Amino acid sequence: MPLTVVIVGRPNVGKSTLFNRLAGKRLAIVHDTPGVTRDRQEAVVEFGPLTLRLIDTAGFERDEPGSLAARMTAQTEAAIAEADVSLFVIDGRAGVTAGDEIIAAALRRSSKPVVLVANKCEALVDLFEAFSLGFGEAIAVSAEHGSGFGDLLAPKALDRIAPQLGYMHIFSFVLRC
Ligand code: GDP
Repeated sequence: MPLTVVIVGRPNVGKSTLFNRLAGKRLAIVHDTPGVTRDRQEAVVEFGPLTLRLIDTAGFERDEPGSLAARMTAQTEAAIAEADVSLFVIDGRAGVTAGDEIIAAALRRSSKPVVLVANKCEALVDLFEAFSLGFGEAIAVSAEHGSGFGDLLAPKALDRIAPQLGYMHIFSFVLRC
């Protein structure tokens, strides 16, 4: 059973770019699932011994009724319902925005593990403000330029996931692969 990792964040932070970067680098299987729930992209990718089912939620942003805030909340809640772990993407250059706060609130309500990713960090960016979202230190990456990916699934990131999922879960998962 792969670990289901859902990429969430407000529009334009680079979710699709991140998905393509992660899927393209270590791609095993990619399939679109239009019309299953909503349009979205999924890929099963292997990171060393870890097999992850990655879901890009960018397609969730289309054609929903209601305010942007209500749509983002509904879309995030729908996405994280099936997640084992969420990659919460913010724009590291923009700082924390009202849209990020809305996504963060939905993620906190779910109480599922979250790894905070600050994208667009090809130049040095001050990520101190990102602590205020409540998910600890952000991992700085540049999805477009491909930097920072060593850290995304490095032990530091897994340590953040494991206490919440349970180390046994992680290790039994790794051993099955
Ligand atoms: P999404 O709406 O969250 O899926 O965002 P997209 O992946 O469509 O990206 C939104 C915009 O941000 C596009 O113009 C991308 O080229 C740009 N973008 C994505 N990743 C990066 C990055 O690492 N650095 C910079 N500077 N721009 C990026």
